[in-house]
Amino acid sequence: MGEPALSVVVPVFNEEQNLPELLRRLMAALEALHRPFEVIFVNDGSSDRSLAILRTAATADLRITVIDFNRNYGQHAAVFAGFEAARAPVIVTLDADLQNPPEEIGKLVAKTDEGYDVVGSVRVQRHDSLFRKLASRLVNKVTALATGVQLSDYGCMLRAYRREVVEALCRSQEVRTFIPVLADMFAGKVTEVPVAHAERAAGESKYSFWKLVKLQFDLMTSFSTWPLKLAMGLGLVMAAASMAAAVVLIAGRLIYGHHWAVSGVFTLFAVQFFFIGVLLFALGLQGEYIGRIYMQVRHRPRYVVREVIGSEEPSPRG
Ligand code: UDP
Ligand code: MG
Repeated sequence: MGEPALSVVVPVFNEEQNLPELLRRLMAALEALHRPFEVIFVNDGSSDRSLAILRTAATADLRITVIDFNRNYGQHAAVFAGFEAARAPVIVTLDADLQNPPEEIGKLVAKTDEGYDVVGSVRVQRHDSLFRKLASRLVNKVTALATGVQLSDYGCMLRAYRREVVEALCRSQEVRTFIPVLADMFAGKVTEVPVAHAERAAGESKYSFWKLVKLQFDLMTSFSTWPLKLAMGLGLVMAAASMAAAVVLIAGRLIYGHHWAVSGVFTLFAVQFFFIGVLLFALGLQGEYIGRIYMQVRHRPRYVVREVIGSEEPSPRG
């Protein structure tokens, strides 16, 4: 098999119910594009039969490679592992749950042929729970504000990248990151195409409420330092307010005598406690950034690969 013209990277975490159909539809859709391709599945520590299904597929079809993690490292780590193994000039990421139809890959690839570095996709009709949709809308808004990168749909992982962008991504040794935003920072020409969106074929979304909150927090703190500035500003306002409160309390004490001042003690307490709260908040936030620096300087690997199945040559890049 020669060099592929297209690499497709699919992160997989407990998707045994979706994999058979995904394999069938994805391979058919890619064959219809009439160019050599490879598919890289990254098994992100699934505890179900996902690995067994993928192993069978990779053994039967040389175009399929499976990278098996030794545990669950998260979707973005999985995509990175796929990026590092990908060999083609155009690389497409796709979710395993069939929410992004593989038949749409052709549209994205056509856009990269036109010279776009990154091609995103916008889910025209989203089939997710109302809560999931609202959460995503919030994430989209806040992300646009915090990162300054305008994307209409950050969550949609059906995306195509030119090799240069993926190489820049692989060189970014950030421990915690969010691929669509990072990619847009390195991309010269970006576009988006509308794609259909289906109900999750089977299984449950791997993102719980807390996982989403964590993702959002990661996103804000890894791409901007404005939370630090916000904390500082808040601290400043608080300091000014408590100064004014103190002046009022002292004046009241002088004018109305000590009775007034004694009940004023509670006001002081209230102000004091609020202030302590703000201080703790600022401290915690700084700690978060310091923690990140600590994580970063340790240079830990993002994931551990247990096995690579079906690759002709182990990829030396990384
Ligand atoms: N995924 C993964 N590791 C995880 C969570 C998810 O590899 O820890 C994969 C999952 O198998 C799927 C994709 O990432 O292919 C998107 O996950 P999901 O569909 O649960 O996310 P949602 O559609 O709810 O955003
Ligand atoms: Mg999904």
